[in-house]
Amino acid sequence: MNAILKNFIAGEWVDGSGVTRNINPSNTNDVVGEYAKADRAQTEKAIAAAKAAFPAWSRSTPQERYDALNKISAEILSRKEELGRLLAREEGKTLPEGIGEVARAGQIFAFFAGEALRLTGEKGASVRPGLDVEITREAVGVVGMITPWNFPIAIPAWKIAPALCYGNTVVFKPAELVPGSAHALSEIIARSGLPAGVFNLVVGSGSVVGQTLLEHPDVAAISFTGSVGTGRKIAQACVLSNPMKKFQLEMGGKNPLVVLDDADVKVAVEAAANGAYFSTGQRCTASSRLIVTEGIHDTFVAALTERLKGLVVDDAVKQGTHIGPVVDANQLEQDQRYLKIGQDEGAKLAWGGELLNRETPGFYMQPALFTEATNNMRIAREEIFGPVACVIRAKNYDEALAISNDTEFGLAAGVCTTSLKYASHFKRNSEAGMVMVNLPTAGVDYHVPFGGRKGSSYGAREQGSYAREVYTTVKTAYTFPV
Ligand code: NAP
Ligand code: MG
Repeated sequence: MNAILKNFIAGEWVDGSGVTRNINPSNTNDVVGEYAKADRAQTEKAIAAAKAAFPAWSRSTPQERYDALNKISAEILSRKEELGRLLAREEGKTLPEGIGEVARAGQIFAFFAGEALRLTGEKGASVRPGLDVEITREAVGVVGMITPWNFPIAIPAWKIAPALCYGNTVVFKPAELVPGSAHALSEIIARSGLPAGVFNLVVGSGSVVGQTLLEHPDVAAISFTGSVGTGRKIAQACVLSNPMKKFQLEMGGKNPLVVLDDADVKVAVEAAANGAYFSTGQRCTASSRLIVTEGIHDTFVAALTERLKGLVVDDAVKQGTHIGPVVDANQLEQDQRYLKIGQDEGAKLAWGGELLNRETPGFYMQPALFTEATNNMRIAREEIFGPVACVIRAKNYDEALAISNDTEFGLAAGVCTTSLKYASHFKRNSEAGMVMVNLPTAGVDYHVPFGGRKGSSYGAREQGSYAREVYTTVKTAYTFPV
């Protein structure tokens, strides 16, 4: 076993006060690494370091920011195979998915390197004679980042890169299940030439490290991605903190994919198989509700079932694997519990759901497809976060649209159709933040806004130039020229 990997606080790698073990879900005998756990005092040190580094970094030149972000991007991209393998090993998405996610993280840093050079303000005439008014953007301060396990490098990247780009300093708390990618990313950031304290890594639990970030008066803002339940607690803590913190939340989804009678069946099946099951269904944008109109229902279900039969569920890093394992025992237990809940409610488990044995002990589960589901069942309302989707029958387009919007969530939505009329109507009337026509609900580019409505998101969008709204604060200034 290698040495325990450390936290990065005030420009130093430091030991923790406990250890977290990173287990490979494809092979529970494989310990990916051991990571030092930070405690409350160390988290406070990281916050103090970030506070001390803020005045200088928030006044750094766009060139300094560009150089650091560009260097981080270059190293991530040049090591994408190795880092993608680490990610697949610790989280369970397949090797190509892992490499793809790492590449995306690299591209995000490149995008925000450029954004550092593009931050401009506005200048206009005051309503008072002889005066101009200037509107500029400034960094917010120390930003605490709390991230989930399902995108161990892309989500940290899409928070850290814009935070640094706009002159903030960072205390990063990754999900305890996936410290490996977070640590590797932090090493790369540590080598990028940023002054000490600008970026800090504190591995540890939500209840200790996360809570400290939420309570500390010197943390100006929190960027969170995770479940709705945790998001709600974060919102409360940010409002109760003194001073109140700026916060932004990205949370769950119960994303509909509508399949209409006039859909191209092959395209619809690909969108559903990818959207519902790739990355083991562990995506906030997963198409977990397949809303299918009557005329195509049976054809679609038969074709999707055939497609599922061809998917290989195996070790995430094995060549030929389409679906990796579920992330851990708790999540597997939750997925299996929902299979029972769905059947008890009267839905039909049309295919899959069995636990699978492979060469190594891991959390393997056959993707599961429910049919005869209705939109009021728990399997249609609650986020399962696994390789489980349900088919809901709809009479026609209008009913399908109504069902698609009848949810507490509003992250992503899709429609499969060859009709321009329905495609246009759906884009305009879907109550989701991201809408796809003839494409999986999951997957938006790194240079465009990501986020949802209703219970899925709170605050400004992440990614692309929209991330400015999270990581800057606006100043309005006048000069009386004497
Ligand atoms: P989670 O349980 O809410 O955890 C997310 C993060 O919050 C983890 O780092 C966790 O720490 C931390 N945390 C937990 N309790 C906390 C507390 N009381 N105070 C401060 N921090 C706390 O979510 P997850 O299980 O990791 O991830 C799955 C969820 O993320 C799903 O609901 C999924 O939809 C959502 N997600 C959303 C998006 C999006 O962009 N909308 C993207 C990806 C995932 P620990 O290390 O202790 O767990
Ligand atoms: Mg969790």
